[in-house]
Amino acid sequence: MQQWICNEPGTLSLQEAEMPQRAPGFSLLRVRNIGICGTDIHAFAGNQPFFSYPRILGHELAVEIVESDAFSPGELATIIPYFNCATCGACVAGKPNCCENIQVFGVHTDGGMREYIVVEDRYILPGKGLSADELALVEPLSIAAHGLRRADLKAGEKVLVMGAGPIGLFTILLAKIQGAIVEVAEPNASRLQFCVENLGITEASAGTFKTVIDATGNLNAIESGFAKIAHGGKYVLIGLQKQAISFSHPEFHKREATLMSSRNATIEDFNYVMDLFRSGKIQADPFISHRHNWKDVNDIFKTIHLPEKQVIKAMISLA
Ligand SMILES: [Zn+2]
Ligand SMILES: [Zn+2]
Repeated sequence: MQQWICNEPGTLSLQEAEMPQRAPGFSLLRVRNIGICGTDIHAFAGNQPFFSYPRILGHELAVEIVESDAFSPGELATIIPYFNCATCGACVAGKPNCCENIQVFGVHTDGGMREYIVVEDRYILPGKGLSADELALVEPLSIAAHGLRRADLKAGEKVLVMGAGPIGLFTILLAKIQGAIVEVAEPNASRLQFCVENLGITEASAGTFKTVIDATGNLNAIESGFAKIAHGGKYVLIGLQKQAISFSHPEFHKREATLMSSRNATIEDFNYVMDLFRSGKIQADPFISHRHNWKDVNDIFKTIHLPEKQVIKAMISLA
């Protein structure tokens, strides 16, 4: 079988590899679709924290069951790529998404940019009618769903989403479904236009918001967001960056604001998103801006970050 390996930042090489071997409790999966994520792009560029090389990237996957004791061969599925220890305090408390010993597939361990993978059955979610496009979008949508679950939105609540990259767009989409009144802060004109045209929301107004959600992972944006929190409001950081954050303690105190991070997602978020696809409340097509073949992977990574490419979500399909 073939796999794309990132031996060092800036290069991806296609190489032949042995077929992975399945152990009891694991399934052999054929990779069908791979969504390209900011994490993959940062890893390729060499500015992803806690990343080591060589590494096989890719964690937004649609797969087909090939050999399994738990699932039917031929069935499409997706995977939860956050491999957890099941024994640390967070895991025992039902928060495996922030496991102390987490191993994210395609980040800490080799991921899905290969024709076949072997994954433990407990991380595999059968598609039950979902398409390969939809299944490859479940993980990034679940990241947004998890941030919103942390925010505990109420219908009619004013929400500011900062950043209209894929995670910001998905956060807007799901917040609207949950009945929030959503505005967006996004400096890029074409991304802002996409929000207005496809999601029917407006650019951030002056004033404050009951909930502010960062989906930029940009230090300046994150620090500016504190001033947008309403009194009694909350601030959820889905995006991640490397620096220390600073903010005015008196301004934060007088609001009695709540600050929280949102890491990865849980199976509840994955099931929520898959049910939204099944009920037709969300569609994959508007978000897949670029489609590529398996042979194109190296070329995609050389240009995907360029603003003029206007990439929302690039999807690689394996024939
Ligand atoms: Zn991702
Ligand atoms: Zn754990």
